[in-house]
Amino acid sequence: MSLTNAFAGSLFVVAAPSGAGKSTLVNALLAQEPAIKLSISTTTRAPRPGETHGKEYWFTTAEDFVARAEAGEFLEWAEVHGNYYGTSRIMVEQQMKTGTDILLEIDWQGARQVKKQFPQATGIFILPPSIDALEERLKKRATDEPHVITRRLLAAGGEIAHAPEFEYAIINEEFAIALSELTAIVRAARCRFAQQAARNASLFAQLGIHAE
Ligand code: 5GP
Repeated sequence: MSLTNAFAGSLFVVAAPSGAGKSTLVNALLAQEPAIKLSISTTTRAPRPGETHGKEYWFTTAEDFVARAEAGEFLEWAEVHGNYYGTSRIMVEQQMKTGTDILLEIDWQGARQVKKQFPQATGIFILPPSIDALEERLKKRATDEPHVITRRLLAAGGEIAHAPEFEYAIINEEFAIALSELTAIVRAARCRFAQQAARNASLFAQLGIHAE
């Protein structure tokens, strides 16, 4: 990557099967690293109790989603558990240009599309400590209907099959350890040469460091 066309912000893609504790881990990361912004996806899924339009997701209809997907508004989009989910292209690109780090909580299909467009994106996959633990966590999440839980459990195997496509794997057995590993990955990615050069262009110029 050249020093001149690099986005100053880093892009993180975090995926996991439902029930691996991804959102809890990501929320804890964001609380301690306020410089990282979570991309709010658009979805056709119905809001769960307590979810707010514009906070967890932008909720919309399938018709509106498809029209926007066809207009190229999404950096990536996919059908997951029978609903559409997509990431706003303009939001991600604008934030990254201004040096903001962005984190996408998306599925493996979306992660693959992002990696094609941003090969420098850091892919992180969160794994449960066992299949039993995964089932337990899904059942405890009382917000979903039993048939939805079953569908998500079946889909978990499909999601996990794509874990090798990610650069990093975190096993979420002990929360504190998993969080420290996630933090370490994020901090290391920010120190990549190209990211530092893009964020500190005038310093690098002053020091006489030029692109290869
Ligand atoms: P949930 O309905 O539990 O919030 O999310 C279901 C799945 O959709 C999760 O694996 C989540 O990561 C994924 N997802 C959420 N937003 C997006 C998105 O914008 N794009 C893609 N490809 N997947 C998403």
